[in-house]
Amino acid sequence: MTNRITITTALVDDLRRRLAESPGSVVEVPAGLRKDTQGLEFLAPLGARRPGGRRGPPAVLRFALLPHALEGISHHWWEGFPNPLGARPRADLALYEERGCSGAVLVDGEVRPIDEVVLAGPRMERWRPGTTPADLVGTVPEDGPFSRYIGALGGCGAHERLRALSAAGIGMARLNSLQAVALVRAGVRRLALIDPDVLESHSLDAVEALAAGSVGRPKVGAVADMLRRVAPDVALEELAVPADHILAAAACARADLVFSAPDQNQARLLAALVARAHHRVHLDVGTGVFGAGDEFVAGADIRLIVPGDGCLLCVGGLDLRRPRERDWRRQRAGSLRSLNGVATSLAMFLLERFLIGDLQHSVWMQVTLDRRGELASRRMPRQPDPDCVVCAHAGAGDAVLTSGVATDRSASRSFS
Ligand SMILES: [Zn+2]
Repeated sequence: MTNRITITTALVDDLRRRLAESPGSVVEVPAGLRKDTQGLEFLAPLGARRPGGRRGPPAVLRFALLPHALEGISHHWWEGFPNPLGARPRADLALYEERGCSGAVLVDGEVRPIDEVVLAGPRMERWRPGTTPADLVGTVPEDGPFSRYIGALGGCGAHERLRALSAAGIGMARLNSLQAVALVRAGVRRLALIDPDVLESHSLDAVEALAAGSVGRPKVGAVADMLRRVAPDVALEELAVPADHILAAAACARADLVFSAPDQNQARLLAALVARAHHRVHLDVGTGVFGAGDEFVAGADIRLIVPGDGCLLCVGGLDLRRPRERDWRRQRAGSLRSLNGVATSLAMFLLERFLIGDLQHSVWMQVTLDRRGELASRRMPRQPDPDCVVCAHAGAGDAVLTSGVATDRSASRSFS
């Protein structure tokens, strides 16, 4: 059983500031929980719709600053203190002066080690409690796999963080199969592929699948075969189920990165909700081609949602109640692999800048190309909405899967 803590970078920055203001203090934060056969994950902070209601939050996290001399202490240190009895799990994190922490999970009087602390946010740092994080940034291997890529990323650090990501893809058609190939080429090695459809002959020109024998197979299986050719050591989960299936939601809940490019905005909304409830990075891409002649325009929306900074609904403008807002995904007449390549490559570029730490906030980028290839790009100005219905479930963890929100179609009627 593993114990994992996922907290947003913004929360850690805020706690560090508050703890520094009153030396020796302890700050307690309510937390959500995600449980599966692998173990237990604490999630913080929580949004407005706190799971547990009057019964109190599913879990608590306690933070303190650790004196420099004590850095490196293990979870056994917590055995010297009285530990709470009761059903509500608690995790204590003692933050080091610069980076890293020590800590323990306390469940019903028992002290357990913490396997990993994920700082969901710019850079996607991962700490192993009790050890000082190796600062790998700056080293570039002279040769060998990924050496050119690592050089362009500015050192091993960002690439290590990228390789550590697990990803779940909602929709595995023309656009997202390209995204999956891009992620695997970059070094991501754990992916869940989610799509209920089978591959038809009209898709063979653009879905990233091997042509021979693929027609009539589930898309996830055909794309998985292609990814295994690209990287034989990749670990793939093939889920030929719709996005609102419990297995699909659980796969997204487990992953560090949710990447979505589904046909339906209902699936997009689900991806947004599960990502927000578990502080996961959300990368969404949509493309479309409109008109002919002088009226021709090709466009793409690329959205990277940073954990703790809004969601696809409030920052990414998924709200489709505005009929005049052009939505590239509504056009189904045709599809350009060239345009999909532009969109997924830009999405990958944004993900890289996020892992390096240059991209600190959620971004919605809209790109258009006219018939002569003139390219225009703009950042869509959106702010996180304090009353956002999706953000209200931030950090809720398992509670969002059992609340019915994730599968309640009426909840999103106004968005489609
Ligand atoms: Zn939101």
